[in-house]
Amino acid sequence: MNKIEKGKKALIWLGVGSFILTIILIVVGIFVIINGAKSLSNGVSVRNIFEIVAGSILLLISFFFAYIGIYFCWVGSAIKATNGSIKDDDLCKGTVNMKKCKNCGSEVCLSDKVCGQCGNKLEEKVVCEKCKSKIDSSKKHCTKCGESLKK
Ligand SMILES: [Zn+2]
Ligand SMILES: [Zn+2]
Repeated sequence: MNKIEKGKKALIWLGVGSFILTIILIVVGIFVIINGAKSLSNGVSVRNIFEIVAGSILLLISFFFAYIGIYFCWVGSAIKATNGSIKDDDLCKGTVNMKKCKNCGSEVCLSDKVCGQCGNKLEEKVVCEKCKSKIDSSKKHCTKCGESLKK
């Protein structure tokens, strides 16, 4: 199972969990409201009003979890639709995890160490003279301290 498959499963389970929480909140909310409304016939008391208000708040929160559930399930299944049978090697194809080889211009994975087309080494690091941090050679300035990285 690759990272996308794992992430997809996690998202869908989060969604299902939110739906279960939604149902529990709705049931408890309605129960609390009915309980409060029933005892209203014996006269209005702080406890009755508290129960009705608390029940309403529970119902409102349940809508929030329903939304989260729909969102996670939707995102999870969207990943499934585009990357369902993807192999680990192809994980970055057509995604944001791409960069261009400086030598030949072909698209390579961010995690690739060597360009698959021309064999150019992709992970060149330069050491900043000021703060000694290792910075990607494509940068013009140190990303830690801002020092110019001219060679
Ligand atoms: Zn190349
Ligand atoms: Zn620096």
